Amino acid sequence: MDKLMNDEKHYVTLNNYLRYKYHTKVARISLNAGLSCPNRDGKISYGGCIYCSSNLSGDFAGEKTKPFKDQFDDILSIMKLKWDTNTFIAYLQAGTNTYADIDKLRKIYTEILSINHNIKVLSIATRPDCINENVIELLKEINKSVEVWIELGLQTIHEKTALLINRGYQLNTFEYAMNLLNEANIKIIVHIINGLPFENKEMMIETVKYLNNYNLFGIKIHMLHIMKNTYLGNNLLKFKELGFNSLTINEFVDITTTQLRYLNTNTIIHRLTGDAPKDLLIEPTWTLKKFVVLNEIDKHMRKNKIYQGDLCIK
Ligand code: SF4
Repeated sequence: MDKLMNDEKHYVTLNNYLRYKYHTKVARISLNAGLSCPNRDGKISYGGCIYCSSNLSGDFAGEKTKPFKDQFDDILSIMKLKWDTNTFIAYLQAGTNTYADIDKLRKIYTEILSINHNIKVLSIATRPDCINENVIELLKEINKSVEVWIELGLQTIHEKTALLINRGYQLNTFEYAMNLLNEANIKIIVHIINGLPFENKEMMIETVKYLNNYNLFGIKIHMLHIMKNTYLGNNLLKFKELGFNSLTINEFVDITTTQLRYLNTNTIIHRLTGDAPKDLLIEPTWTLKKFVVLNEIDKHMRKNKIYQGDLCIK
């Protein structure tokens, strides 16, 4: 993948990878299957992860009451104002999209893939504790006709933080799911969050170094968003009294670019910022200027002549 880096971008972007593979702009359409999450429906807990919004972390996905075809068309009509493309990734973002019985999951995936024959990838966001052998068999079946990506929310490798954020599973559950997916040849994208309460730079770097142990297709590095109507948002003052502060943009740039240096160049960078609805975001508000954040990352890497993987021991 090293060849996908250039003078402008010192890391392997998803955009560059997709253009190299499909020779065109590929648009991601976020759909909502209305599936729940075991960390919200009481199977594990009712509270969910402390930063989880009422939309189950799918604030920009389609409207779940509508059929998939309508969700797809709604989003496409907006996208067409920006890009003229006919190549798509269908992305099941909100909730836990392998958390239902197998027949229901098969129906969901098949229905989505029937919307448009130019859907090249079905990308499914889920939790590691919702990957099991039955799910793997279904993913293998779908993967024969259309590429399947599984997106796993890990956030951190540190058990103490995982407990604090109420993630609801331990690291060995993640490892089990990773091994099953790797053996099944399903591409995996892992989400991590920078700026989780009481994590320092070294801990965040350790999370990335650990991920090099796996055959990882992609990574999404998010900044922690503190939003209204979440546990963290409602209890922010208490966290602050205990010494928690959101990262500044400079800290985020410093930590994220160092993480990139330790990351294997086979891993594609799917995201280095996240989206939060402006009216719900409490802090940090600098994340609303995504373009500025990405620019600062690029500038920092160019100025210091650093690249993804240049500290990675292969
Ligand atoms: S796993 Fe995702 S959907 Fe479930 S509680 Fe956590 S953030 Fe929300």
